[in-house]
Amino acid sequence: MYRVTFYVEGRNRRTNYQSEKAARRGIVRWLNKHHQATDVHAILYGPDGTPEMFRDVAELGHIDTPKAPDFYQSQAWLRVRVDALANAKGCCVLCGARASEGVALHVDHIKPRSTHPELELDPDNLQVLCGPCNLGKSNRYSERW
Ligand SMILES: [Zn+2]
Repeated sequence: MYRVTFYVEGRNRRTNYQSEKAARRGIVRWLNKHHQATDVHAILYGPDGTPEMFRDVAELGHIDTPKAPDFYQSQAWLRVRVDALANAKGCCVLCGARASEGVALHVDHIKPRSTHPELELDPDNLQVLCGPCNLGKSNRYSERW
């Protein structure tokens, strides 16, 4: 069991954590949240009761946060991607370049994922573009060709 006492501006509260990693992560979150306070620190007590004090996130060193799984490796994406390529008969919708001619084709999000994450798996939001067309398009257009 790891105990942490959080102090900010003369107030304090205690939280228990199952692991040291969870405790340290909690301290980082809390220090980030109160980074504007003048008097802020957290004390971490290990299982043997040894205290360790933190005033700054930098004192906690590197903390690995779980990485989000890569969207472009996901089964769901690979499935809609293949459907889009099949529907386009393996050619760029803009210039007609073909995969069979050695051109790399990209399945493009018409409305970008950054602004329309809800459409990332919507077949109606996908179109097949060759590399140069995709690069030329970037985020400048959002229409279907
Ligand atoms: Zn093209």
